[in-house]
Amino acid sequence: MTPAGNGMDAERKMQFLFTLRSRGVTDPRVLTAMEEIDRGMFVRGVFSERAYEDMPLPIACGQTISQPSVVGLMTQAAQISPRDKVLELGTGSGYQAAILSRLARRVYTIDRHRRLVHEARQIFEALDLHNITAIVGDGSRGLPDQAPFDRIIVTAAAEDPPSPLLAQLAIGGIMIVPVGQSDAVQSLIKVTRSQEGFEYDELLPVRFVPLLEGLGQE
Ligand code: SAH
Repeated sequence: MTPAGNGMDAERKMQFLFTLRSRGVTDPRVLTAMEEIDRGMFVRGVFSERAYEDMPLPIACGQTISQPSVVGLMTQAAQISPRDKVLELGTGSGYQAAILSRLARRVYTIDRHRRLVHEARQIFEALDLHNITAIVGDGSRGLPDQAPFDRIIVTAAAEDPPSPLLAQLAIGGIMIVPVGQSDAVQSLIKVTRSQEGFEYDELLPVRFVPLLEGLGQE
């Protein structure tokens, strides 16, 4: 079987990067990572031919792979450096984690759906991305064993940034999190932690699936 991801030919790639830039993704390291990680690998079935369009798409377990420009803007806002240890909450397809793995030293990603974590692990292996640890669990409690994290990226919306995650953010750390009611307009928030406390900046309106408690059915 041919992997779905063989579709990023030169012209599609150029169009994909052009769209990212026109939506504000300008950090060269982020653009390079997004050029190298083929989104087509993370989308299956009938939707795979739309993998290079700037839209969210359905994945298994009733979840979605985020819109590429939103992935780019979140990654850019997180200002990741090569020494960073990053936590992602909401593995989903694994696409965001794969991008992070090109920019950071180590990536931990958690999802409440076992099936999504297993499928994402297979893709990470196929792409030789060996600095990602994908974990099944309720990520709203974070990952105390590995804390503190230099960067935390949350890809499911909560009413407020979960307090265990704030506690697990290193001093000098940055967390990117969509905040708001699940079916209303949400805001992407950048939380910066300093010695003095937490600073909150609103970045852009977004729409993510909700952060849910406990484990998923499959
Ligand atoms: N980052 C993903 C998209 C995530 S969609 C990508 O690049 O494809 C949001 C994901 O968050 C879903 O897969 C959902 O199962 C997961 N999720 C929601 N609440 C969660 C929780 N409490 N703990 C862990 N994962 C959660």
